[in-house]
Amino acid sequence: MRALLLDNTYFPVRIVSWQKAMILILTNRAEIVEEYNDKQVRTVTQAYNLPKIIKLFARHKNNQHVKFTRFNLFLRDNFQCQYCTDKFPLHKLTFDHVIPQSKGGRTSWENVVACCHPCNLKKANKTPEQMGMRLLRTPKQPSWSPGLCLKIRRDDPKEWKEWLPRASSA
Ligand SMILES: [Zn+2]
Repeated sequence: MRALLLDNTYFPVRIVSWQKAMILILTNRAEIVEEYNDKQVRTVTQAYNLPKIIKLFARHKNNQHVKFTRFNLFLRDNFQCQYCTDKFPLHKLTFDHVIPQSKGGRTSWENVVACCHPCNLKKANKTPEQMGMRLLRTPKQPSWSPGLCLKIRRDDPKEWKEWLPRASSA
């Protein structure tokens, strides 16, 4: 069981284990917004419902970096080939090194974009300039956002959704 952690402005900041959520509540750093009515933890003398959504008393500034992963890259690029601009399902996308690795291009947020297979084949080991291909957007490191960074599992509570309008399932 996991709990969604909001800050005092109701901004979703993290998903935590129920144990971590209980510690935040018992140490007066957070309060319960919603609990699991059917899931309890028992001490010798008491039973507590497990927290489903909790809210910090403080503002939380998230300065973590977004992990560079295939999925996060596709999310950043909106599942859109950055050359032909068409949208594709996950399995029809690949990624393209804007400056090819063979020419010293790095595998980084700034040099890798979502790309469909036909565009990837066409571009091959060339730069976009050499091929007369234009990028939809200049690739950069995305900033932290709940949609990119909070990975919702299938069995997570559906009540979280109203706090996570743009969250992804992974
Ligand atoms: Zn394409």
